[in-house]
Amino acid sequence: MRLFKKKEEVLDPYTVEQCNSCNNTSKRVFKEGDYVFKIADKCTSCGSGQMVISKIFGEVSK
Ligand SMILES: [Zn+2]
Repeated sequence: MRLFKKKEEVLDPYTVEQCNSCNNTSKRVFKEGDYVFKIADKCTSCGSGQMVISKIFGEVSK
């Protein structure tokens, strides 16, 4: 999936997940079905927290 801002600029969407326990964040490429506040995988950093999608944004692709 690609988001178009201007004719010349192509944005690649990214998803940021944040742990609700240790606040560890991880950024990955957006996947179909992602939305803010969606529950993701268990945190791999602290092992007990839950990763929640905190942000979805577009970056200019290179
Ligand atoms: Zn954690």
